[in-house]
Amino acid sequence: MNDILPSDVETWQFLEREAHRIFKLYGFAEIRVPVVEKTELFCRSIGETTDIVEKEMYTFDDRSSNSLTLRPEGTAPVMRSFIEHKLHALDPVSKLYYMGPMFRYERPQKGRYRQFHQIGAEAIGVDDPMMDAQVLAMLCHYFDAVGIDNVELHVNSLGCQECRPQYRQALTGYLESRLDKLCADCQRRYQTNPLRVLDCKVPACQEATKDAPSVLDLLCSGCNDHFAQVRQHLQELQIDYTINARMVRGLDYYTKTTFEMVTNQLGSQNAVAAGGRYDGLIKELGGPALPGIGFAMGVERLVLMKGEQQVQPPRPDVFLAALGEAAGQKAFALMYRLQRLDLRAEMAFTGKSLKAQMRRAGKLNARYVLMLGEEELASGQAQLRDMDNGSQEPIALEGIEQALLEKTRGN
Ligand code: ATP
Ligand code: MG
Repeated sequence: MNDILPSDVETWQFLEREAHRIFKLYGFAEIRVPVVEKTELFCRSIGETTDIVEKEMYTFDDRSSNSLTLRPEGTAPVMRSFIEHKLHALDPVSKLYYMGPMFRYERPQKGRYRQFHQIGAEAIGVDDPMMDAQVLAMLCHYFDAVGIDNVELHVNSLGCQECRPQYRQALTGYLESRLDKLCADCQRRYQTNPLRVLDCKVPACQEATKDAPSVLDLLCSGCNDHFAQVRQHLQELQIDYTINARMVRGLDYYTKTTFEMVTNQLGSQNAVAAGGRYDGLIKELGGPALPGIGFAMGVERLVLMKGEQQVQPPRPDVFLAALGEAAGQKAFALMYRLQRLDLRAEMAFTGKSLKAQMRRAGKLNARYVLMLGEEELASGQAQLRDMDNGSQEPIALEGIEQALLEKTRGN
């Protein structure tokens, strides 16, 4: 679990701000749900035989012996809330987004942590393939807006309750014939959750399943048609994508369209965003039979990808350098007036030499330094230094707030 230090927070806030901005363009509204839920919610939605539920959840009993779990993902809690508050009664189409910490007991490594953060979106109530394309378009728009361009959109369809069992059976049969080549985990999971074998990161398993049957060859006509339309809509929007029939996703609730934004920049942690359709989930959780589609992005991975292009904190507009007690008091009061006018104003609170104060102004990268001493107080004129070009000019103390506002406006 990481501390997010001020040097990184600008990037975090930028990524969050852009999510608020972009998602609202598409009519999504923010929802905030608790970080703990009843354990049962995740077992029922994500699935008992998934990695998350089998070995990654932080689960504990509270003082009344209720089993609670720190949320490992956001979709199930959002659906729980949607159902509990009957949001479908307010509007048959709900477009929601969320951001916040998630918890998974995984082996920590670059891009994989035990407390990590997701920004996610869910569109509920529309099964039209246009909605799939709209959600993918919003995701692509977000990546463009935050300036992350070395990603590829992978799409797949996992079928529905009708056709998935057939694929599952075909895959189980295929895996049976090469069990000896699979890792111990896959030898176990090939029966409980065979699709997960395709997702195994062990190279030998990938090699052994190279020519596994493709889910796309076994879709029923409804799913096949849905997927064809999604692809057509993506083309209409000129969104590039790659079909990846091996992408199975690690959560059981997915149906039909699934997708990932992948990068080759983060080693084996190559998915920066992932999602899909979950047409049976809301009903499964006791709500109305409404379809849904959504995704979640891993914020730590976005931050890693921003890498060198870290977002810089804003520089102070003006640093007030004061010499002597009277000037110090004057500067102190002026600083607050400037702050109330939305200017970033700073000073050194202790009686430092002018040289030390200038050093501090330089360290903070202040745009201007206002120099104020006994002489300036008496004459009613301070000195203003432009820290970018080193020039210095007198500035009247009378009306200085407006003058500084004008000078710094647009910074
Ligand atoms: P992976 O295959 O990398 O384990 P996942 O399929 O478990 O990912 P999802 O549950 O779909 O991931 O979560 C969506 C996104 O959240 C991922 O694409 C990733 O960016 C991020 N994510 C998931 N788990 C972690 C983690 N432990 N630490 C950091 N980010 C994570
Ligand atoms: Mg995972």
